[in-house]
Amino acid sequence: MSKSIQEITHQIVEFAEARGWKNENPSHLLNAIFIEMAELGEHYQWKNDFNKFKDMSEEDRTSLGFEFVDVIFYLFRLAHNSGIDIEEYFDKKLPKLNEKFKIGTDYGKAHKDYRATGKNKLY
Ligand SMILES: [Mg+2]
Repeated sequence: MSKSIQEITHQIVEFAEARGWKNENPSHLLNAIFIEMAELGEHYQWKNDFNKFKDMSEEDRTSLGFEFVDVIFYLFRLAHNSGIDIEEYFDKKLPKLNEKFKIGTDYGKAHKDYRATGKNKLY
């Protein structure tokens, strides 16, 4: 079953409001995102490629998945409480990203050139 961002946001907000978590301090939610991002980062620390994730135990996969949800939980609440509809802005942003990062560009070469010259021709 797939859910839209709006459906997930609705569930998160309903969960929070049922517990009286309303009118939260935005900086507290932002800090919670950073903390959850650090917890997510622990799963990636010292790993050099994604092959290590293919063979992870179900317990580790669940733990990793829960950290992504923790980040989304706070991120979507912060956006909702700030009056930001992520779906709306995703749809507005994607065409801009398509314009900025054109298909067919050799990003490997561009990054090598940037490291060699310090001049960024991509952005
Ligand atoms: Mg967590």
